[in-house]
Amino acid sequence: MTAPIVAIVGAGIAGSAAAYALSQRGARVHVFEKFARGHAEGASHGPTRLIRRAYFEHPDYVPLLDRAYAGWDALEDACSDIVFRRTGLMEAGPAESVLVSGILRAAKDYNLPLTELSPADVKAKTPFLNLKSGWVALFEEDGGYLLAEKALTAFQLGAAAAGAHFHWSTPVKGLHRQAGAMTINAGAMRLSVDRIVIAPGPWSNSIFADLELNAPAPIKCAEKAHCWFAAKSLADSRASAPFGVEDETGQMYYGFPDIDGAGVKIGAHYGGADLNEPSDRARAFSSEENDIVTFARDIATGLDAAVLSRAYCLYERSPDGDFIIDRAQEDERISYAVGLSGHGFKFAPLIGQLLADLATDATLPPEAKFLSAARFLSPTPPTAR
Ligand SMILES: Cc1cc2nc3c(=O)[nH]c(=O)nc-3n(C[C@H](O)[C@H](O)[C@H](O)COP(=O)(O)OP(=O)(O)OC[C@H]3O[C@@H](n4cnc5c(N)ncnc54)[C@H](O)[C@@H]3O)c2cc1C
Repeated sequence: MTAPIVAIVGAGIAGSAAAYALSQRGARVHVFEKFARGHAEGASHGPTRLIRRAYFEHPDYVPLLDRAYAGWDALEDACSDIVFRRTGLMEAGPAESVLVSGILRAAKDYNLPLTELSPADVKAKTPFLNLKSGWVALFEEDGGYLLAEKALTAFQLGAAAAGAHFHWSTPVKGLHRQAGAMTINAGAMRLSVDRIVIAPGPWSNSIFADLELNAPAPIKCAEKAHCWFAAKSLADSRASAPFGVEDETGQMYYGFPDIDGAGVKIGAHYGGADLNEPSDRARAFSSEENDIVTFARDIATGLDAAVLSRAYCLYERSPDGDFIIDRAQEDERISYAVGLSGHGFKFAPLIGQLLADLATDATLPPEAKFLSAARFLSPTPPTAR
């Protein structure tokens, strides 16, 4: 085939990274995004995302993170800018917590460097935190945070420079599949394409229905809140490492230093307001904010517990919490990445490469096979990892 024409549905971090990878491989790329450039409707907006290698969710992600880390290095080289702040990451909780035990397992399996911190070390790394006595605190030098909106823009500008076309405010509404090319219907456009990449974030269920494709699995959507707090010491809030903390209830909180004078950002990983559709979102106070404020009051005691500002974002959860990256069952020309389940951003360079592989007839590499939709088609449904 001469350079294939590839339509990408969605210009979040997954679709934008796929546009970057595909346009660099010479494909003629059209990205269709239902909202305007820079929108805050999906899952990829906001200033920061954590990145870490000793992956508590499952050690199987570690080889994928090696590729993702290399991808962030390459993106920074290409755009001559910093999108990954390599500050290190402090993570803590009870010894038996999912977080601490999972980090130790991944670090052991892959021989990853990790330092156990004394209470004095914790104070030095994260001065506004006051951890409970007996908790284990670990420091991963290799962790840090991504400047999320800068990373998103870098992928989009890099893709555009390599010839990709971004069609903003252009929702994909339908698809006509013939034996030769397919015709995608987006906004007022009809475009004949060779391949389609679907990267719809929380709109997964509706796009599979609109394109008359079988969804690989139901994706649950939740609205998540995060809040900014003022630190009692501005110097402490700027000098702090980012962190993840699991408390005795099993809730995980994450936070970032004050990077722009907006305050210290804190969010909670589990829960949130479950939605039937992304359009049901309220962008209003939820009980999750109470939990975040309680965490600030009890653990982040170096912060003033009054909320300075808040923002909302959507999670799109797969049934087992693992990403689903594959080709459509009924048409090999269509591939997708869905269910990034609140932890996909750090993998974006890799997800872009995997989607580009699938769109150019390669298969998933062995280390990424566990992300295939095949696990939902097997007689025994997967359990949470
Ligand atoms: C509060 C919060 C904190 C997070 N923290 C972290 C973290 O610390 N580390 C980490 O690695 N990950 C984190 N994540 C997860 C990560 O941000 C997401 O996994 C990732 O951004 C999902 O990207 P996406 O491109 O799949 O989805 P999205 O960013 O939602 O992009 C999908 C895009 O598709 C568009 N679209 C949908 N349907 C159509 C259609 N029919 N036509 C055209 N366009 C369409 C949407 O408008 C949207 O722009 C966090 C997420 C949230 C919400």
